[in-house]
Amino acid sequence: MHTLHVELGARSYPVYIGRDLFSDPELLCRHIRGGQVAIVSNETIAPLYVPRVREALGERQLITEIVLPDGEQYKTLHTFEHILDRLLRDQHNRSTTVLAVGGGVVGDMAGFAAACYQRGVDFVQVPTTLLAQVDSSVGGKTAVNHPLGKNMIGAFHQPTAVLIDTDTLHSLPPREFAAGLAEVVKYGLICDAGFYAWLQRAMPRLLAREEAALAEAIERSCALKADVVAADEREGGVRAILNFGHTFGHAIETAQGYGNWLHGEAVAVGMVLALRLSAQRGWVEPGAVGILEELLESARLPVNIPPDMPPSSFLDLMARDKKVLDGRLRLVLLRAVGEACVVDDVTTGELELLLRAAVG
Ligand code: NAD
Ligand code: MG
Repeated sequence: MHTLHVELGARSYPVYIGRDLFSDPELLCRHIRGGQVAIVSNETIAPLYVPRVREALGERQLITEIVLPDGEQYKTLHTFEHILDRLLRDQHNRSTTVLAVGGGVVGDMAGFAAACYQRGVDFVQVPTTLLAQVDSSVGGKTAVNHPLGKNMIGAFHQPTAVLIDTDTLHSLPPREFAAGLAEVVKYGLICDAGFYAWLQRAMPRLLAREEAALAEAIERSCALKADVVAADEREGGVRAILNFGHTFGHAIETAQGYGNWLHGEAVAVGMVLALRLSAQRGWVEPGAVGILEELLESARLPVNIPPDMPPSSFLDLMARDKKVLDGRLRLVLLRAVGEACVVDDVTTGELELLLRAAVG
C-alpha cells in the first residue's frame, strides 16, 4: 500500500492506494471519529463493494446504507435531499461520518450532503472508478447538477481520508476505464513529462489492468493533483490547469448531448485540440500531436471531433463555458509537454484555423 498526503493545513488528509484495503479494518476505522456512519453508494456498486466496507466498519452504534439510483441524471438536488432525509430520519448527529463508495457521481453527491448536513460532517471517499480515483475523490469539490447547468450547486468540502482499492477496477466497464485514462494522460501533459513518457510505455499494462501499473498511474496522478490542490485549494489560479482539454471537451459533451460521449472521451479530443493549438503557436513540436493521438488511440479513446460538429458550433459553445471571465475565453495550453499555462488571448481567427484544420 502507498500513502500520499494532501497538504491543506488543518484540512490535510491521507490518500491510501493499494489492494484489498478493507481486509485491515483499522485503516478505515482510524478515520471515523464517532459511532455513526452513513454509507452512500448506488444500485450497481452496493452489491459489489458495500458488504466488505461494512464488514470493516464492524459493530457500530448506527450504520445507515443509502443506495441511490445509478446515473448522472440522478445527480440532482432531489437525490441530495433524499440523502439528507435519510440522515435526519436515522438521527445522525454532528459526529457522524458520510462514507462515499462509488464513482464521481456518488462521491460528488455524498460529499455535498456531508458539506451541508448540520453545517458539515466528516466525509471519507472510497472511489471505485478510475476517474474518481485519479480525479474527483481528491480535492474537495462537491456538487450536484441543476437543470440549467452541470455542477452548478456545490461546496468545497475536503474528505478526511481517501481509500483507493485498485481491486475495484476489475469490474469497471472498458469504456469507463478508458475515460479515466484520459484524465491520467492529462496529468502527464500538464505537469510531468516523465510521467507522460512512462504512460507511453505502460499503456498496454494499464489496459490489461495490471496491478503494479495501475497503482503507479493512480499514485502519480493523485500526487500531481494533490500538489495542485495544495497550491490552490479553491481554483483562484494554478488549479485551472486541471481543465486542460476541458473547454473543448465540454463543447463536445454539450453538442452531443450529455451521456452520449463520456466526459473522458470528450476530454481526450479536447486535449488533442489544445495541443494542436499549442503547436500552432510554436510552443510544442508539431510531432507531439501525433504522439498524443497514438497514445489516446491505444487507450481506446477518440481523437477526432465528431463529424457533425462544425467550427461555428464549437465557437458558440465555448463562448458559453464557465471559464469565460469578463468576456475573455480562458484556455489551458502547453508551453511544452509537461508544462501547462492559462492564456486569455486566443483569437477567434486562431480557433477557426485550428478547428478547420482539425476537421480536415
Ligand atoms: P459514475 O460515478 O457515473 O460511474 C460510472 C459508472 O460506473 C456508473 O454506472 C457506476 O455505477 C459504475 N461503476 C462505478 N464503479 C464501478 C465498479 N468498480 N465496477 C463496475 N461499475 C462501476 O462516473 P465517474 O466517471 O466516476 O464520475 C463522473 C462524475 O464525477 C461527474 O458527475 C463529474 O461531474 C464528477 N467529477 C467530479 C470531480 C470533482 O473534482 N469533484 C472531478 C471530475 C469529475
Ligand atoms: Mg475532468
